[in-house]
Amino acid sequence: MKENLPELQEDTRSRIPDRTSVSMVGNNAAADAASLTLSSIVTVSASREEAAVEAFSAWAIRSALLPGSYPGILFLTDKDGLVNARWEHGSHSELERLTLTGTDWKGLGHNAVSQCLTTRRGAVCTAKEHTDGELAGIVTLAVPVKLFDGMETWSLGFAGLDEAAAGQLLWLQCCGEAIETAAALSCERCKNQILSAEKEQSQRESDLREELFRTAQKMHTKIDVESVLSELIAICEKVFPEAKADLYLSQDNGSNQPKVQPLVFNAEMDIRTRAFMEGQLIRETVETPLGAYCTVAAPLIGKQGVYGVLQLTCHEDGVTSSHLHFISLLASTAGNAFENAKLYEQSNLLISELRLINEITKRLNQSLKLNDIFEFATNELIEIFGAEFCCILQLDKQTDKLVVQASNLHTMNNALFSKDYGYSGIVFATKEPVIVSDYMYHSDRMTSQLMEITSSRSLIGAPIIVNDEVIGTILVTHRLANFFSYENYKLLQVLSGHIGLAMTNASLHAEVRRRVITDNLTGLYARHYLDEQVNLQQKQDFCGSLILVDIDFFKRVNDTFGHQVGDEILIQVAAIIKTSIRDTDIAARWGGEELAVYLPQVTIEQTIRIAERIRSRVARETKPRVTVSCGISEWSWEDDKISVEALFYKADMALYEAKHQGKNQIRIRN
Ligand code: GH3
Ligand code: MG
Ligand code: MG
Repeated sequence: MKENLPELQEDTRSRIPDRTSVSMVGNNAAADAASLTLSSIVTVSASREEAAVEAFSAWAIRSALLPGSYPGILFLTDKDGLVNARWEHGSHSELERLTLTGTDWKGLGHNAVSQCLTTRRGAVCTAKEHTDGELAGIVTLAVPVKLFDGMETWSLGFAGLDEAAAGQLLWLQCCGEAIETAAALSCERCKNQILSAEKEQSQRESDLREELFRTAQKMHTKIDVESVLSELIAICEKVFPEAKADLYLSQDNGSNQPKVQPLVFNAEMDIRTRAFMEGQLIRETVETPLGAYCTVAAPLIGKQGVYGVLQLTCHEDGVTSSHLHFISLLASTAGNAFENAKLYEQSNLLISELRLINEITKRLNQSLKLNDIFEFATNELIEIFGAEFCCILQLDKQTDKLVVQASNLHTMNNALFSKDYGYSGIVFATKEPVIVSDYMYHSDRMTSQLMEITSSRSLIGAPIIVNDEVIGTILVTHRLANFFSYENYKLLQVLSGHIGLAMTNASLHAEVRRRVITDNLTGLYARHYLDEQVNLQQKQDFCGSLILVDIDFFKRVNDTFGHQVGDEILIQVAAIIKTSIRDTDIAARWGGEELAVYLPQVTIEQTIRIAERIRSRVARETKPRVTVSCGISEWSWEDDKISVEALFYKADMALYEAKHQGKNQIRIRN
């Protein structure tokens, strides 16, 4: 409010010269002169004192034009007799020092001014009557000027060199009254002007408030961050058309508006950084050859934090204190709206992420095969993140290395890496996810085969943690720099946990299955597995053969050496069988001390050779030494009836024969 006053003062003052001339006029003309000039001497002043001085000055300018002047100086003193203003007609050096601003007339002995201020009546002192040497040869006249609704009495004095001027008291009184009236009017006008300026100001403030209210309403209806930002920029451009408005956001928002930029924190603590850190509006003025410019930085504050800074730069006059208040409120309104929109966006994102996680978990758990899981996860991760390459590495406990279990980069598949190599190594060691925004920028510190081969620049990686132990890592890359967002990085971390669980489930399932189809003692397959497999293969293959192996005199072994040794013999024979056949052949414990080997797509001659190999090795290698008898049978697609039972029956018959013919031999049943 008060900021406008200096303007008013300057304007008024600039119209009033410091010094002008004054003329004393004849008695008859005095009243006319005063009234004539009255309307034109009413000025607008900031304070009542100034109003009085200016009314005096304006009156004197007009009066100076009137005829019949007496040479001298006319001056105005305040209630204490100190000179406030003066008018001089001609050059009167002897009077000049007496009427300098601040001259104390009460200290000049007996004179018209001090008398007038004491008696509050008009006074005249001739040259003789003055007691102070300073006033020798001077005639003084003074009349009271009642100011400020009669609260104070000032004096209008005249110091002249001509004794004849002593007769002009009436004229001086008229002048005094004119000044009184003019000063009162000036004060009134001043008050009015102040009131109307106040009114204008409050109107402007109310307009701003209304604008703020409308904007707040609009902003809070927006549910997307981008619209809130556009609204903020639009309102700034509307209210401050001359200003340069910019928005600096502390978080990467991916906004495509040119006025929205990232807030870069710098050590010099520029105005934006300070506004952000201190959480309050900061104003700075810079002098330029084109004038003073001010920059205002207001933080976008929400309930949970500060999100950025609104910065306005314009000519200093363009921003008043009510504007500052408006900017501050606007920024915090925008901060709150931004926060709400951000929360809404985040909750949407969270919902879709949860849906995605739910979907992926469901699909991951549908599969109990590790390879299927790896392949599915690789494809899904590429799809979700819009990535170009993905690698899933698993710790191989035997080699203690990370092996690439799945990747869309086929040259990487099954590659082995040391546990501390590359980004996977970092993720493995720290158990924390990693994000690389630009590998080119980091490449001097870290080498990564994956990044090099694929020419990738962006990477997100996460550990696969199960029971607080890292069992593998996931790396996802893209050739563009700054491709992955913080949300991507967090999501990968969540997904890797689910992938880890699916891997564990699949591993456990595989282990259970292995145990179900394996005989505990010998490590060979269980009989039901052999049955299943023979059944299956008889439907697909053209032929196959079966060897039944029975340990001779096993009861005796048990009786002689005990069951423990009997068990060891069983294990030894099983090991001989395993090492005598190919991976595609299936060896199982048929029951008790009888073992069976199914050889798919193998001719009878080959089968005999294998059975013979087993028989002779058992006879040679077991300790204590035992022998085995073998019964062989075969099937071919040409047989009338093909069944597992028939195949086993024939082999059993052959075995029976071998036993009866002296054991430690092979018999075949076609
Ligand atoms: P043959 O030469 O005619 O085959 O005589 P055998 O003594 O080997 O045959 P028999 O069927 O009379 O006895 C088989 C024995 O195998 C009976 C049983 O105690 C023993 N046996 C069966 N399963 C196991 C096992 O898991 N461990 C041990 N130690 N012995 C077993
Ligand atoms: Mg037996
Ligand atoms: Mg036996």
